[in-house]
Order: sequence, then structure tokens, then C-alpha cells
Amino acid sequence: MRAAISIDVGGTKTLAGLVAEDGTVLVQCLRPTVRERYLQTIEEAAADLVDYAHRHAVTPVGIGVGTTGLVDHRQGRLVRSMNMGLENVAIGEHLRNRFGLDVFVDNDLHAATLGEMMFGVGRTYPDFVVFNAGTGIAAGMVFGGRLVRGASNVSGELCHTSVEQHHRGCTCGLPGCLESIVLELRNGGTAPEVRLPRVPDPPAPAYGYLALGVIHLVNLLNPPAVVLMGGMLTHDPAAVAWLHEAVRLHALPDAVRGLESFALSELPTGLVGAAALVYEGLGK
Ligand SMILES: [Zn+2]
Repeated sequence: MRAAISIDVGGTKTLAGLVAEDGTVLVQCLRPTVRERYLQTIEEAAADLVDYAHRHAVTPVGIGVGTTGLVDHRQGRLVRSMNMGLENVAIGEHLRNRFGLDVFVDNDLHAATLGEMMFGVGRTYPDFVVFNAGTGIAAGMVFGGRLVRGASNVSGELCHTSVEQHHRGCTCGLPGCLESIVLELRNGGTAPEVRLPRVPDPPAPAYGYLALGVIHLVNLLNPPAVVLMGGMLTHDPAAVAWLHEAVRLHALPDAVRGLESFALSELPTGLVGAAALVYEGLGK
């Protein structure tokens, strides 16, 4: 059997596994992400999986790394992670030299979107949008069966949409960015509440801002399918139902008419996403 070595590096945890060509996760393991041992942790996870593969008659076809931070996808390099205070980490080159396998690196949201394209909603819809609301807020876009990465691989930074002009500045320089306000509200801070007159109050104030994010996406891109991901939504069906209602009643009716699917991802998005980087890179 052939499988991709898949590594999903989050702000606090690094999840690694072997993922078969049909998207099945064969084995997985979890490690803490430690800033000082960022590359070492990735390398150790890959080494464990190469070893496991050899002991179980699995042929590793390549290594995929989805990581938090700004990534140069072509060079396989972490350009910068503000959260972890890291810069210029040559992940691809390091792992290629160490293991002699092809290595593909991208940011975690692009990876998760690609996973959804290959193994999830993308099997039904060649066009769809991912809305991720977890530690960060971001959008992934697939059109014509291709991931939209943008001119410098930075597509999807919905987090820096200014939604409250009279609120304090974000690190990007704009006032009241979506992600900084949601983070502030989740930490008990105050920000003006979003009022959406056609739906009841949101389950918590932060969700009013999430609704603005998804409504803007639906109006802007008119997708037939929206896939939801991230810790704010994954275990909260009531919040998902409220968000769906907010979109249904507040996005433009002509855009809503085209929206056939609005649901949580059914995949282990991190692992399947990093594996999808490999299968995309190898041209499967
Ligand atoms: Zn910002």
C-alpha cells in the first residue's frame, strides 16, 4: 500500500499520520508544538512514520506539511510565523535531505482546503468555499477544481477584514479586524455587538462577527457550497444552525439561491489536508 506522510503543525499541537491515496488515515500521533523545536518536532514525527511504514509494508510516497504561518509554497519554506516568532525555516529542503522523499509545504488553511477538494465536498462541487473559525479566521477557495492560492500564496486572509471602524487597530494596521475582535470577545473583552435584525441574537457575541464574515464571503463569491471548519464551530451544532440561518436571511437572496450546501467538514481536516499537498504535488 502507498501512503503520504502527513504533518499538521498547529500553534500548540503537531499531528502527524500516514494517509492512504483514498484519504484513509492509517495511523496518527500527536506531539506538542514547541517554538524552539519546531523543525525538530516535524522531523521526529516524519522519522517515526517512515519507520512505522517500513514495518507495516506501506510505501511512503512523499511528505506533506501544513503549518500555521506564512509559507512559500514553491520553496517549501516557512516565511514567517508571528504566533511562534519564527522566520525563514527551510522545511522542504531539510526533510528532503533527511529522508530522500518529495516534500510539499503550505499553510494549514490551504492544506485543509485541498483536502476537502480531494476527499470531501470537492468530490461533489468543483467550486466551494471553506470558512475556518478557530484560533484564526480564514477562508479557503476552490474554483474549477483548483485551489486559489493567490499571487504570493496569501489568499484567504479573511481575518484582516475590517468590520468595526471605531475599534482599536489590528497588527495589520486596520481598525477593528474580524479576527482581532473575535479573539477579544472570546477572551471576555468588549466590542460593539453585531445586530442582525432578521435572526435571533447569536449564541455568543463573537458569532455575530463570524456571521458577517460568512455573509461577505457568500455575497462576494456566490459559492454553491460552504464548508465550515475550526474549533468555534466543530463541536457546536447550535452555532452552525444559527450561522446558517444568518446567512440564509442576510446574504443577498440571489446569492443564497445558489447555495446548495452549508455544513461542517466531515474530514480529519489537518491530516487529510497535509496528505492532499503530497497527492497534488505528485499530480495524482
Ligand atoms: Zn488586521
